[in-house]
Amino acid sequence: MQFADRLNNVETSAIRELFKLLGKPGIISFAGGFPDSAMFDVDGIREAVNAALAEEAGAALQYGATEGYNPLREQLAQFMTSKGAQGVAADNLIVTTGSQQGLDLLGKTLISPGDKVIVEGPTFLATIQCFRLYGAELISAPVDGDGVKVDELEKLIAEHRPKFVYLIPTFGNPSGAMLTQARRQKVLELAVKYQTLVVEDDPYGDLYFGEAPPPSLLNLSASVPGSRELLAHCGSLSKVLSPGLRVGWMIAPTELLAKATMCKQFSDAHTSTFAQATAAQYLRAGRMPATLAKVRAVYAERAQAMGDALRSDLGEAIEFVQPQGGLFVWARLTGAGGKVADGNVLAKRAIEKGVAFVPGSPFFCANPDHATLRLSFATADVAKIREGVARLAQAL
Ligand code: PMP
Repeated sequence: MQFADRLNNVETSAIRELFKLLGKPGIISFAGGFPDSAMFDVDGIREAVNAALAEEAGAALQYGATEGYNPLREQLAQFMTSKGAQGVAADNLIVTTGSQQGLDLLGKTLISPGDKVIVEGPTFLATIQCFRLYGAELISAPVDGDGVKVDELEKLIAEHRPKFVYLIPTFGNPSGAMLTQARRQKVLELAVKYQTLVVEDDPYGDLYFGEAPPPSLLNLSASVPGSRELLAHCGSLSKVLSPGLRVGWMIAPTELLAKATMCKQFSDAHTSTFAQATAAQYLRAGRMPATLAKVRAVYAERAQAMGDALRSDLGEAIEFVQPQGGLFVWARLTGAGGKVADGNVLAKRAIEKGVAFVPGSPFFCANPDHATLRLSFATADVAKIREGVARLAQAL
């Protein structure tokens, strides 16, 4: 069959192949990017579904506006405001089918073949694939434990004049890094200085373990004149409430939201009204603070357990920054003591020992660091995490 030329720019990810092996009995998986399904607030969602059907069945089961179901847009605007965003009203956001659709709509509305887009090295794999599908030439900006290196970022912006810069500033996937406040400030200043759109992808910002992270780019934009008009922010209920709901949102300048809405119309007409009404009821019932407190506590314990186990079982053979939120430990094999220093090699050996993780190299759009790995601590309990890390040490 003859497929569209744009498919030549992408390939199915190496990670998918690995996922096929996960079905093996007894495997402990640190591989997924999923939240733990045991943590879903099933009672709260059931109540929200019942309320949606009792109070607004006509709207919840009917076609709806492409921009989103207004009661949910209102709730999301309030949610964002409660987290410190200024000047965010229902009209300033559209509801998307997961934040993944927000990224796709940004690709669709902004990228012409050959356009340059700067992303972090490493960054979210599906973003790499999605932007490439639209023909983007991706430029990789280096990161360290504090997120993207802003001086390098400025050089790349000045040199390449990208269509936009895509960042996951808070507990990135896969890097787990948290961009410092000073760097966030600088990113917004760069947006204004070079008149470059910045995309903030923020599905993990609420999953912090100790102190709250620095304000999002969205929140900070209120204090950097001119930056709000150059910022798109993608949010999601996936990691804190349920990815199956497929409820995300995008806050962006009016003109961009209008174009994204037009493209969404041709794509899925609107995000499931049933899911939107459910999410709106859930938020209105005021359950979110307790849900967030619960997931933060559970993931914090697991992150600590994984960090401790890696330090004690793998010692100098691995280096990583202890994550302060999110779902991932991003680590690097040092090769110390002649041990394996390639994430792909270790991933295969690890499966044989009964533990799975994702090698880091596919997360780079250029110059992959083959020594890296992404380990998710989200879905295994503390005992399994310890056992899984012990198996990893054997594999090493
Ligand atoms: N952005 C990042 C960085 C992610 O890790 C994910 C999910 N893995 C998404 C976006 C998409 O999430 P969703 O579509 O479920 O909101």
